Amino acid sequence: MIALRLMTLLLISLFAFSCTSKTQDKQQTAAPSDSITNEAYRNSKMEKIVKTDAEWKKELSDEQYRVLRQKGTERAFTGKYFDLKDDGTYSCAACGSELFSSLQKFDSGCGWPSYTAPLDSSKVEFHKDISFGMVRTEVLCAKCGSHLGHVFDDGPEPTGNRYCINSVSLKFIKK
Ligand code: FE
Repeated sequence: MIALRLMTLLLISLFAFSCTSKTQDKQQTAAPSDSITNEAYRNSKMEKIVKTDAEWKKELSDEQYRVLRQKGTERAFTGKYFDLKDDGTYSCAACGSELFSSLQKFDSGCGWPSYTAPLDSSKVEFHKDISFGMVRTEVLCAKCGSHLGHVFDDGPEPTGNRYCINSVSLKFIKK
């Protein structure tokens, strides 16, 4: 009888664990990041720019420093590039590395400049961001490590990705 009860308890425990695992799997799958995040490792050979916090603070405006170096976010629909449709290239506002092209820019309606892809996958790195109770994929400049924004998997074809980038992290160079 005791053996039967123990067996029942064991089965219930296994079932509960299985449900928990499925929930966790689903959460991880839902994060747009896992397949993309691995690119960060392939990008690790890029030449890096390393500066002290004091140097960045001296070179950047207060708002650039807050977003680029302290992982801040500009208010939606306030940045200078979210609605820009000109042809050209978007570089990192901190180090000048060319990151995005107007060819991949699209109007996502989210209030931030949005792109389906970077100019080259080696230009950006990805970190898992679990701040504010959410699981998101942070996008950073591969060259200087500055925060650019986040990438989500609800973008249009051909990539299905939406790189949601702060205007203040970018510098537009018109073609
Ligand atoms: Fe940079």
